[in-house]
Amino acid sequence: MLIACLDLEGVLVPEIWIGVAERTGIESLRATTRDIPDYDVLMRQRLRILDEHGIKIDQFQAVIGQMGPLEGAREFLSWLKERYQVVILSDTFYEFAAPLMRQLGDPTLFCHNLEIEPDGRIAGYRLRMPDQKRASVRAFHDIAFKIIAAGDSYNDTTMLSEADRGILYRPPQNVIDEFPQFPVTTDYEQLRAAFLEAEAAILG
Ligand SMILES: [Mg+2]
Repeated sequence: MLIACLDLEGVLVPEIWIGVAERTGIESLRATTRDIPDYDVLMRQRLRILDEHGIKIDQFQAVIGQMGPLEGAREFLSWLKERYQVVILSDTFYEFAAPLMRQLGDPTLFCHNLEIEPDGRIAGYRLRMPDQKRASVRAFHDIAFKIIAAGDSYNDTTMLSEADRGILYRPPQNVIDEFPQFPVTTDYEQLRAAFLEAEAAILG
């Protein structure tokens, strides 16, 4: 009866855009939802920068494939999957995440799609729906599951609020300050402990 909802970037894999910024040397691609909470504003800025530099989907996927999951992420995810049904809720895109998801054993991922032109230019993006993280947790509640959710940044906080228990993982200080109701964890051992604690609280 328990579903674990996990954010992807910053929890299981590195921040994709920061990794791309490091490998391409384009500093302005480093911005994330930690810096610009309005996701649409952030994405339109990112795509404009890509266009300015002529970067296409092939280059992007090659870089992402080299990144790999965070150290210990595979083991953490295995542990989680033994105890709960696990669904990863991310605001990334299937086209970006694919190489990393393969390395994580292809867990269930709910995210979005890019609009790719025939020449590989990334023309835009299609959010399946707004605030899908929160909507997914609400939908799981509707079919009688209890949810423990974990994420690292601003765009996870509606998901954490909607869940029966929310956990922050390596969040920035502004999120810690604004959402003191969520326990803060900084490594996978603490995150495991927080899941067990949440489970005990939910199941009584
Ligand atoms: Mg994240």
